[in-house]
Amino acid sequence: MRRAVCPGSFDPVTYGHIDIVGRAAKQYDEVVVAVLNNISKRGLFSVEEKLDMLSEGTGDFGNVSVAEFDGLLVDFCRDNGIDTIVRSLRSVSDFDYELQIAQMNYRLSGVETVFMTANPQYSFLSSSLVREIAQHSGDVSSLVTPYVQKRLREKYAERSAGQ
Ligand code: ADP
Repeated sequence: MRRAVCPGSFDPVTYGHIDIVGRAAKQYDEVVVAVLNNISKRGLFSVEEKLDMLSEGTGDFGNVSVAEFDGLLVDFCRDNGIDTIVRSLRSVSDFDYELQIAQMNYRLSGVETVFMTANPQYSFLSSSLVREIAQHSGDVSSLVTPYVQKRLREKYAERSAGQ
């Protein structure tokens, strides 16, 4: 049984993430999408909201589950019987950052990192750009699922009502 993890912030999940998770799901018996619970870096969405949107977005893949983690990713891998970390590369700048982390994770634990090249259709896409566009009521329908669009609308409506 080969288990892989797709870790990230997913604030919120985009079609770029879903593409990578779906491709990983074809390569491994089980894939866990793991949301980093970073108390020092609060996102737009809570971890619970991110998990909910991820479950909705990856529900069609039969072998994908979602989870949260804090602390070291390699500890999460050890505790969950995972031997591969799947990350994606959109650009050379992604590579510079990812290489160092992948080497450190291997050094710490022997867990391998496998890189998948981003689908060119989504290589310009990031959660931060989605947030930026949605905040200004722009059209994100080709970037995130209808459910995430709805959650973004609600979130920014809540925020403007609270101001
Ligand atoms: P992190 O802050 O850990 O990079 P992200 O949620 O931004 O978290 O990304 C999680 C994973 O998804 C990373 O491997 C990232 O490269 C990948 N990813 C993000 N956006 C895209 C995209 N548009 N296409 C393909 N992969 C993506």
